[in-house]
Amino acid sequence: MSAFENAMRQLDIAAEKLGLDSSVVDKLKQPDNIFEFDVPVRMSAKGGSASGRDDGSEKIFHGYRVQFNNARGPYKGGIRYHPQVDLDEVKALAFWMAIKTAVVDIPMGGGKGGIEVNPKELSLAELERLSREWVRKMYEHIGPKVDVPAPDVNTTPQIMAWMADEYAKLTGDTTGATFTGKPLDKGGSEGREAATGQGGFYVLDEIIKKLSLNPTDTRVIVQGIGNVGYHFAQLARQGGYKIVGLSDSKGGIYNPNGLDPEEVMRVKKEKGSVINVDGVEKVGGLAILQKECDVLVPAALENQITADNAARVKAKVILEMANGPTTPEADKILHDKGISVVPDVLANAGGVTVSYFEWEQNLKNEHWTEAEVLAKLEPIMRESFRAVWDTHEEHGVDLRTAAFMLAVKRIVEAMK
Ligand code: NAD
Repeated sequence: MSAFENAMRQLDIAAEKLGLDSSVVDKLKQPDNIFEFDVPVRMSAKGGSASGRDDGSEKIFHGYRVQFNNARGPYKGGIRYHPQVDLDEVKALAFWMAIKTAVVDIPMGGGKGGIEVNPKELSLAELERLSREWVRKMYEHIGPKVDVPAPDVNTTPQIMAWMADEYAKLTGDTTGATFTGKPLDKGGSEGREAATGQGGFYVLDEIIKKLSLNPTDTRVIVQGIGNVGYHFAQLARQGGYKIVGLSDSKGGIYNPNGLDPEEVMRVKKEKGSVINVDGVEKVGGLAILQKECDVLVPAALENQITADNAARVKAKVILEMANGPTTPEADKILHDKGISVVPDVLANAGGVTVSYFEWEQNLKNEHWTEAEVLAKLEPIMRESFRAVWDTHEEHGVDLRTAAFMLAVKRIVEAMK
């Protein structure tokens, strides 16, 4: 099943529970706009290019933007730079953004973009030209009240700064509000870097209470100690949870007596991987998902918990901090085992929420402190969890279906 087919299956399940009319469902499945375009880039002359080209030739990359639904506000969603970016994936991601912004009830819609490129093969100057060219192709179709892109896989605050600058040159709009995820000195928001982990931590705190667990007795494994996983693990440890497992792309480590994410990160930076931490059990990258714990937090890649390993997961809760870490087949197995899966569209929505705060600050020409940002983020995440939980209890559905039902209902109300 492709990513988009998977997304549409999730929509069908929620729509059926809500008793939606098929004409409404058809409209929900239809992206508002699809842009597909060439992004030509002049490659650097010899010496200036990691790719070693020496003739200043032009190379054509393929760019996308899908504006899925704006019933609740401007399209919102990242731009991904990856060799495997394709239209099916961008459409699915754009749809999920519409769901995510509706789950946390922020006045934004859903969109996503991308360029089919391996950015590691480009020099910095080539990357800048590529990013500016994407904006030249799209600037008439984006804007603070229209479509607000952000970073995604392999796109950075620096890339957002180039894009915002190009947009300002082309349109004269210097608010910076067309792109979020910018560096702090270019209109970025305090708290954005840790926002996704922070939001996930509030959600963890809520579900633990619902399941009558308490932090000190709750063992947590985090797969992927990157931006999201590291901040999440740090906050969880500070909140009294026991982090018993951590991993990165080279493998994992497990210690039933607890790990200190800061210390593990220090070793990773010094020696290249968490697996170089001494005095702990070494575990394979996928095997870590099957170790004893109460809360399993996939925070790395999609499709990690599958029909092959779901039956061996021992956690009581899976908190999806990565996008799409659980396949639909695995979802069913986990549900049958009584494991609560907190879906990505809720668990990792702290990132888009703080992106929305950045947009708001830019439009009002304000700069909020980190404390102000967190004070606004916390109630949004906690209340969103409670609304999803209430829907889950009221309709007897799993948390993913509940989140989709809540979001779809809000989108349909706005469409009407
Ligand atoms: P990142 O690149 O900072 O970190 C990814 C981490 O995963 C790295 O530590 C990497 O070593 C590890 N990893 C890679 N392959 C692995 C494997 N096979 N097993 C274990 N670990 C592996 O990325 P990120 O920004 O932390 O994003 C992680 C996930 O969260 C992605 O799915 C992303 O789409 C999602 N997400 C991120 C944000 C955000 O604000 N950054 C927001 C919402 C969702």
